Amino acid sequence: MAYVKFSEGRKFIGRVPFQADLLDYLTGFAKDHGIRAGQVMALGAVSEAVVGFYDQHKRTYFNIPYHRHLEILNLTGNISLKDGKSFVHAHVTLSDEDGHAFGGHLMPGTTVFACEFIIHEYLTEQDLNREFDQDTGLGLWKL
Ligand code: ZN
Repeated sequence: MAYVKFSEGRKFIGRVPFQADLLDYLTGFAKDHGIRAGQVMALGAVSEAVVGFYDQHKRTYFNIPYHRHLEILNLTGNISLKDGKSFVHAHVTLSDEDGHAFGGHLMPGTTVFACEFIIHEYLTEQDLNREFDQDTGLGLWKL
């Protein structure tokens, strides 16, 4: 079985504080509220960003830093458990002053200018735990 069923849990809508680190804030929010599985959505703007790209040959992420103001067109992510703690995996689509879009795997170092988020908690039949996956080198759900 490569999936689990879930039912809806709590729902949260809020604002990420000015100058907060986006990934740290979302992860802390999930931990503080005991969210073991769920979905994250957000939009807004950042004063700088770091996204990652996973090199499938080298089996490592490399960071792409942007030291400029950008819009968050979309953040989509999920919450599961890694080492027993709430873990947020999120991807962002960003855009620049010309409206060009790009993005990647959200990394620490993304500083919020303004951001509105929605989190849906999912109550799963079994925990979604991330464990090292031999095929990809990634921490994937053990299902
Ligand atoms: Zn990712």
